[in-house]
Amino acid sequence: MSTAPTVMDAFTHCPRCGVSDFKLQGNNLRICSNCDYHHHFNPVCAVGAIISDDRNRILLIERGKEPAKGKLGVPGGFTDVWESVEDALHREVEEEIGLKLHSIRYLTSHANAYLYRGVIIPTIDFFFSAKTNNFNVVLEEGEITNWRLMEQHQIHPDDIAFESMRVAIKIYWQHNRSSQASDPNLP
Ligand SMILES: [Zn+2]
Repeated sequence: MSTAPTVMDAFTHCPRCGVSDFKLQGNNLRICSNCDYHHHFNPVCAVGAIISDDRNRILLIERGKEPAKGKLGVPGGFTDVWESVEDALHREVEEEIGLKLHSIRYLTSHANAYLYRGVIIPTIDFFFSAKTNNFNVVLEEGEITNWRLMEQHQIHPDDIAFESMRVAIKIYWQHNRSSQASDPNLP
């Protein structure tokens, strides 16, 4: 368990008038006693794409940066301000691995705690299953060190970077049984 503060803990001064008497009320609200500014801490929105090929393998990337450096994940990232979740998904996938998605389909969402520069940021991660016409991957330098297409039985949950991704990948396989998992000779 990380001892890092959450963004709700770390945000100690009123962003409107600057005083430090900016009291936490419950889990996710701070109120300024000087100017009565109310700040609600809503989760940061993030997206992830589970991109599959025609053999029902999914594309996983190896993270080149903290948090979870060296772990596997799905391509994605944070939405920009004023951007839709769908636009963020297309943009992030193109930035990270150079692929254009030709179809996306909403899969699931899951809350996540993202440790960023010593502060825990609550996020809400939206996952989509996605298809691409080709796998001419171009990795974003520094962000990602490798990529691979993996079958269900090749993926160990402990190797996946975040709990939200583990949940989304599990749900993906429930919706898209791999040939391995549907083999009646297997348990
Ligand atoms: Zn204030």
